[in-house]
Amino acid sequence: MTATPTAPSRPRRKRGEGQWALGYSEPLNKNEQSKKDDNPLNVEGRILGIYSKKGFDSIDPADLRGRFRWMGLYTQRAPGFDGGKTATVEEEELDARFFMMRVRTDGAILDAHALRTLGGISVEFGQNTADITDRNNIQYHWIRIEDVPEIWDRLGSAGLTTLEACGDSPRPFLGSPVAGIAKDEIIDGTPAMDEIKRRILGNPEFSNLPRKFKTSVSGHPSHDAAPEVNDISFVGNVHPEHGPGFDVWVGGGLSTNPMLAVKLGVWVPLDEVADVWEAVCGIFRDYGYRRLRSKARLKFLVADWGKDKFMEVLEGEYLKRELIRLDSPGVPTRQGDHIGVHEQKDGKFYIGAAPVVGRINGEILNGLGDIVEKHGAAGVRLTAWQKLVVIGVDADKTEAVVADLKEIGLDARPSNWRRNTMACTGIEFCKLAIVETKARAAALIDELERRIPELDVPISVNMNGCPNACARTQIADIGLKGQLVMDEDGNQVEGFQVHLGGALGLQANFGRKLRAHKVTSLGLDDYVTTVVRNYLTDRTEGESFATWAAR
Ligand code: SF4
Repeated sequence: MTATPTAPSRPRRKRGEGQWALGYSEPLNKNEQSKKDDNPLNVEGRILGIYSKKGFDSIDPADLRGRFRWMGLYTQRAPGFDGGKTATVEEEELDARFFMMRVRTDGAILDAHALRTLGGISVEFGQNTADITDRNNIQYHWIRIEDVPEIWDRLGSAGLTTLEACGDSPRPFLGSPVAGIAKDEIIDGTPAMDEIKRRILGNPEFSNLPRKFKTSVSGHPSHDAAPEVNDISFVGNVHPEHGPGFDVWVGGGLSTNPMLAVKLGVWVPLDEVADVWEAVCGIFRDYGYRRLRSKARLKFLVADWGKDKFMEVLEGEYLKRELIRLDSPGVPTRQGDHIGVHEQKDGKFYIGAAPVVGRINGEILNGLGDIVEKHGAAGVRLTAWQKLVVIGVDADKTEAVVADLKEIGLDARPSNWRRNTMACTGIEFCKLAIVETKARAAALIDELERRIPELDVPISVNMNGCPNACARTQIADIGLKGQLVMDEDGNQVEGFQVHLGGALGLQANFGRKLRAHKVTSLGLDDYVTTVVRNYLTDRTEGESFATWAAR
């Protein structure tokens, strides 16, 4: 048989990606247009001067669904929202008239005053809601626009802010929960984080990025601030001549096209971290793709350029000097979540404790403030795993603190399931969600604690309400991505696509998406039980869950 001749293909002209540095100044989508129409930071003035006084109906829709995010405010899913089946997303949003508010802590220690401030806001203005997110934030729901100025005043009195906690901006930073106190720390990154924050928060030079830009800084050898999945991470390393500093990892991120960060293999001293941060963020602002929202993260640019070109632009165009080369730090000896009682380098102790999937409330925050004051502790830091760490406890008070934490629902000696399970906001409040997560994950933990109470290796479960991976679907041993699935009777019901064998740290890898492994929410307890029991029976000596799942 003769093949049909095909017309010679003409080389296709590559479409521009809307990169400012290549001359694209005209916005190529509505988000870019909105940012060009008005600097999103200006919305703060309108919230204070107009919207909070005149109420929800006075809010310009372009601010409501766009620029409010730069102030850490998202409209909340209306109760009973049905995914737009009977009403548009906009109609349902307007029906809600309440906001989710995100408060950034950026790895800071929250003292008794800060904890009570956060607790008081939750009780008075947020219907007692508060979640610890996996990005060191406290997230409220049910916030009314009229209350925002008072909330901002109170947060300000505790050194806290919601500024640029959302939006196409430098999002809240992840820091090491044990920065400056851990015995085995390589270097304390706190001064660098403070300096970055001082330079860029509210700075219009960095307030119009192609999309979000996530930062992680940790000098702890356990890589406890998830460096693999941030846009930029400073990771503690030691130069044989110059001493402790940081390597720089760029272009990590999850969501629908997950990529692990690329290690640049450099050594940056503490006082130059902010300069390098500005340079990398500048590359993202100027060269980042702005045409398609789905490609507007730094990871796509890093993937297209590769490490060598990225370094060439970073050093040649932005820093105008060469960075010191140093092989990237090896993998951590363990993944640090800092749960339990640990001695600090000053002889005091820190105590990591687990709520259930990050869900706390205003009363718990107030209770934490009381515990910190009663026992003379320094305060509390949040972790990248929806948990918290009480810092600076005297040796003779550790057991009393552990008991008091337990009293308010925070467990310093949690089961594997409570310790290693995270869940995103889900359908209760998130407009993008397809399924329920927080309550479902809490029920799963209860059931697994009953069915498999003892485990000799940690197994993590991350539950997400949609493909966006806010609770990091792809890097858990058992990652659950919310979607509608068919039940046995052919009905569409809430369920999950399963990813098995993901990990950070020692075996950083994305879990395998097994097409056949879709499970209804109702069948989840049995599914997880079966998978875990199969692993426990089938594993070879010392074989991790991730290695077993990859067989
Ligand atoms: Fe919402 Fe999806 Fe993120 Fe969950 S993963 S909080 S459902 S956007």
